[in-house]
Amino acid sequence: MPMILVGASIAAAIKQEVAEEVKALAARGVRPGLAAVLVGHVPASEIYVRSKVQACAELGLYSDLITPPDTVTTAEMHALVAQLNARDNIDGILIQLPLPPHVDAKSLLDAVDPAKDVDGFHPVNAGRLLAGRPALAPCTPAGVIEILKRSEIPIAGQHAVVVGRSDIVGKPVAMLLLHQNATVTICHSKTRDLPAITRQADILVAAIGRAGFITPEMIKPGATLIDVGMNRLNTREEFDRFFKGNAKREAAFAKGGSVVIGDIDPKAFEISGAYTPVPGGVGPLTIAMLMANTVRAAKMRRGL
Ligand code: NDP
Repeated sequence: MPMILVGASIAAAIKQEVAEEVKALAARGVRPGLAAVLVGHVPASEIYVRSKVQACAELGLYSDLITPPDTVTTAEMHALVAQLNARDNIDGILIQLPLPPHVDAKSLLDAVDPAKDVDGFHPVNAGRLLAGRPALAPCTPAGVIEILKRSEIPIAGQHAVVVGRSDIVGKPVAMLLLHQNATVTICHSKTRDLPAITRQADILVAAIGRAGFITPEMIKPGATLIDVGMNRLNTREEFDRFFKGNAKREAAFAKGGSVVIGDIDPKAFEISGAYTPVPGGVGPLTIAMLMANTVRAAKMRRGL
């Protein structure tokens, strides 16, 4: 039977550790603070940001939710970021993506003080990660490493195959795995004979954004499968392809009109050695690592 890597319990353990660090910092007069900037009304973004602010409250961090109107300009956003860079009670700045198309997101992410870049998206932090120097690593990739380590899945010497090369998931997760001494292969949409490569993976990380893309034929039996993907199945036809006859999922589909699936076909999980389910695998780690990064940023900025 494969081991299910339950993200929620790993995230809870990390949050507990963060809460203890926050307490220790409070004794030294320091309260880590996160500023979350949310523009517009994208429902998923509103849910994510609310959960992040709520996590701050639970763990004892200060948080400031800033909600500029949809009509905000790039110049106004730059002024806001400059203010947050200067505020001493803010250790982490999070700009929730996506931003409206008329706002230049890249220039804004580059304007965040790298010392407060708790998402780890700034080129300075990407460079530090590449160079193996202490850095604020992107939250989801850092969460993947925590899942593997805390589940005692060996990484050193293993062949890790990462499918996806985005700046926020694929590339940083590959780099973190390399720093843990895995032998890493990165695949993408131009990779030739993808199944031949994924079948070599001891650890397969899927960060593609395509529902159930990795099929059972594409994996080595017994491999560890880390599914970063979050996709929605909205039609009965899509649903039936993966979950026909699955009572729990049928109930969720009937209730909500859609269900979430990762980038790995759930049938592949059955022949794996261990896997992260979707939902409930990698997802919960993202917020836990954001909290950990904010505390880390607070300590690094003060030389603690
Ligand atoms: P991007 O769209 O930025 O990147 C997708 C990557 O997948 C690209 O590198 C692309 O290759 C590759 N790809 C696309 N099609 C194929 C194919 N047919 N064969 C091989 N590779 C392919 O996505 P993200 O990295 O931002 O996100 C990936 C997934 O992870 C999404 O489902 C997203 O929702 C989810 N996610 C989940 C998070 C969580 O907290 N759990 C956090 C962040 C993301 P190429 O570069 O050649 O185009």
